[in-house]
Amino acid sequence: MLPDLLRELGVTLPLEPAHRPVVGVSACLLGRRVRYDGDHKYDPRVGETLAGLVRLREFCPEAAIGLPVPRPPIRVVDLDGSQRVRGVAAPGHDFTDALSGCADRIEETLDGFILKARSPSCGLGDTPVHDAAGVPHGVTDGAFAARLRERFAGLPMCSETGLVDPQALAAFVTAVFRHWRARNQ
Ligand code: SF4
Repeated sequence: MLPDLLRELGVTLPLEPAHRPVVGVSACLLGRRVRYDGDHKYDPRVGETLAGLVRLREFCPEAAIGLPVPRPPIRVVDLDGSQRVRGVAAPGHDFTDALSGCADRIEETLDGFILKARSPSCGLGDTPVHDAAGVPHGVTDGAFAARLRERFAGLPMCSETGLVDPQALAAFVTAVFRHWRARNQ
């Protein structure tokens, strides 16, 4: 399905690695053991299917700001309309600005981004947001993903959960290759 789709876009496979689109990815989706619990969330659609079509650039904002592995969990808290990423056991520790600053420091030109669902840093519209007492009452972006959206408006982005459906996967790959072709014209 994907090779046919890419042929329709005028893309001839296999692509030389240097000529492939560049896609950012949450590092835990590639099998890096950087999660708070010391584990990873390897996703074969990312690590195998997409890795053969694009150049993947991994990012772990929580590791990048110096948090250890394993580490105490963090979560998004709504404080009078301001969403902050704070420690669960240590709510005085606020990581929001550091995590969004990671998105500001990305220097590469990207054609897409695949983010880990439900993460307080990487989640894309599906991260639980809690009230001050810790009760979940909705969903939002993680701090890193929120800043990515602001800084890279129009960049194709999705969570790994958004790649499960074959049509959604094809739509994301199409958007990535369109972005790549537009910037190479
Ligand atoms: S979800 Fe994001 S911050 Fe959390 S381990 Fe994965 S890459 Fe790191």
